[in-house]
Amino acid sequence: MKFNDMKYERISIEDMQASLQKYTKALCEAKTAEEAIKVVYEEDIDSRHVDTMATLCFIRHDIDTNDKFYDEEVNYWNEAFPMIQEDAQKWIDAMLESPFRKELEEEFGEIVFTNAEIEKKTFDPSIIEELQNEAKLTTEYDKLIASAQIPFEDGVYTLSQLTPFKNDADDERRYKAWVAEGNWYKENKERLDSIYDELTHLRDTMGNKLGYGGYTKLGYYRMQRNWFDKEDVEKFRANVVKYLVPVANEIRKVQAKRNGMEFPLSYSDMQLEFRDGNPKPQGTADDILAAGRKFYDELSPETSKFFRAMLDNELMDVLSKKGKAGGGFQAPLYEYKMPFIFANFNGTQGDVEVVTHEAGHAFEDYMNEDRVPCSTVCPGMEGAEIHSMSMEFFAWPWAKEFFGDDTEKYLFSHLASALLFIPYGTMVDHFQHIVYEKPNMTPAERDAEWKRLTGIYMPWVRLDGDIPFYGEGMAWQRQSHIYDNPFYYIDYCLAQTVSLEFWAMIQKDLHGAWEKYMAYTTQGGSDTVYNMLKKAGLKSPMEEEVMKEVSEAAIKYLQGTKFFK
Ligand SMILES: [Zn+2]
Repeated sequence: MKFNDMKYERISIEDMQASLQKYTKALCEAKTAEEAIKVVYEEDIDSRHVDTMATLCFIRHDIDTNDKFYDEEVNYWNEAFPMIQEDAQKWIDAMLESPFRKELEEEFGEIVFTNAEIEKKTFDPSIIEELQNEAKLTTEYDKLIASAQIPFEDGVYTLSQLTPFKNDADDERRYKAWVAEGNWYKENKERLDSIYDELTHLRDTMGNKLGYGGYTKLGYYRMQRNWFDKEDVEKFRANVVKYLVPVANEIRKVQAKRNGMEFPLSYSDMQLEFRDGNPKPQGTADDILAAGRKFYDELSPETSKFFRAMLDNELMDVLSKKGKAGGGFQAPLYEYKMPFIFANFNGTQGDVEVVTHEAGHAFEDYMNEDRVPCSTVCPGMEGAEIHSMSMEFFAWPWAKEFFGDDTEKYLFSHLASALLFIPYGTMVDHFQHIVYEKPNMTPAERDAEWKRLTGIYMPWVRLDGDIPFYGEGMAWQRQSHIYDNPFYYIDYCLAQTVSLEFWAMIQKDLHGAWEKYMAYTTQGGSDTVYNMLKKAGLKSPMEEEVMKEVSEAAIKYLQGTKFFK
C-alpha cells in the first residue's frame, strides 16, 4: 500500500486503557498456557495498531509541520501516552507474574521478560521529583544550545548554521569559526557547568534512593543493559587504547602531513580531512535513489525486494521542502509491515547514508515485522546500529555509483572516520563513569579529567588553549549525550566495532559476510545482542581478538591508499 493511502485514525485514551485492562484481566484469568499465549497474541494486534497510528501521525506532521490536523494529533498523542503508562505497566506485570511464564518465555522469548525486569529496576515513586527535575534540566541544556547566536564575519549564526564555516577549506576562516564558537561556549560555561552539576547530583540521589550506591548501576539499567556490565566496558576500553588508538594516531599524523599542518592537530585543523574538500555524491536525489536501487538489487534478493517496495509504496520522503521538519530517521509501520524513511537531502555525504545507514535500519524492520510481541522486532541501540553501520560498509563495492570520481576519497574517509570515532566515543563513556563515581567533583576537576582522558584516547589533539573552550579541554560540554542520555554513547562504539568486523570480512568475501549479516539481522530483537552475534557466527565487540584484527586490517588498507603517502 502507498504511504498516502494508509488510513490514520485517532484512538481514544479510554479505548487504549480499556484494551490493556481487558487483556490484563484475561491473562490473569487464563486457565492454561495455550489461553495465556493466545491473549499475548491478541494484545499485540491492538498495540501494533496504536503504534502504527501514532507513527503515521508523527511522520505526516514532520512532512508538513504546517498541517493543522496532524499538529493537533501530535499534541493528542503526546498527552495520551503518559495516560496509558499505568495500564501498560500492569499488563507487563501480568506477563511477569503469570503462572505460565515459562511457557510464555518459550513462545515469545526470554528477552521480553529479561528486559521488563530490568525496566522495573529503574523506577520507584520515591524518585519522581528527581525525574521531573532531570527532565527540566536536560530541556534547559537543549534550549541553551539551540538558542546560541554567534557573531561571525558579517552575520549571526546558530551552532548548526556555523558548521559549514567550521569545515571551510580556508585555514584562517575555519580557525576563526572555531574561535567564535569556542567563545560562545565559554561565555555560557558557568550555566553549562551548573546544569551538569545539578544533573550529576540528581542522578546520584536517584541511584542512592534505589539502593544502588550511586548512579552508575541505575544508569546501566536505564540503558537496558542485558549482556554486559561495567567490568566488560573496562576491558573494551583497554582494547581500544591498546590497538585502536595507535592506528587512529597514525591516521591523524598522516592527515597533518598531507595537509601541511602542525602535529598534534588543533581542533580547527583536525576538521579538514582533504585540502580539496570532502567527498561529495554525484548527481541528483533521483540519481542517489537509483544508485541505491542498483546496490540493493545486486546485493541480495531480499534487499532488492525490500528497496523496490520502499520506492513503489512511496515510503521514502527524502527531499527538503518548505514546512518539512529537519533531520532524518526511519520508523516501523507495524500494521503495514513496512518501514518509512524520512530525510532531508542536502548534497552531502549524508544523503548517501540515508540510502545505506537508514535503509539498513529499515531493512531490519522489514525482515522482522512479523515478530510478536512487536517489542522483539528490533534489538536495543547497540544491536540496531550494527544493522545500519554495517550496511554502509556493504555498499562499498557500489560506492562508484554514489560518489563517481570522489569514490577513493569516500572509501578512505568512511573507514578512517569509523576508526577515529571509537576512541572518542569510548572516552565520552569513560568520562561519565568517573563523573558518577565522584559526584562531588568541581567543574574545574571535571575539565581536568576530560583533558587527562584526551591525552589517552586522542593524543593527536593539541590542547594549548589557543582555541577557547575546545583547546582548553572543555569540549565535553558540547556532547549532548553527556547531559541528556548518560551511558548511551558506548552503544555506538560497540556497534561500530562489529561493523568493522563486517568491513574486514567484506574485503575478503562479500557473499560470506552477507550470509553472516543476514543470520544476525533476521533474528530481530529476539535475544540479547551477544547471543544473536554468537548464533550468527560473529564475535562479540568486547573480545580483544576483534579489536586487534580490525585495527590491523584497517591500517593495512589505509596504508595502501594514495592518501597515506
Ligand atoms: Zn542509526
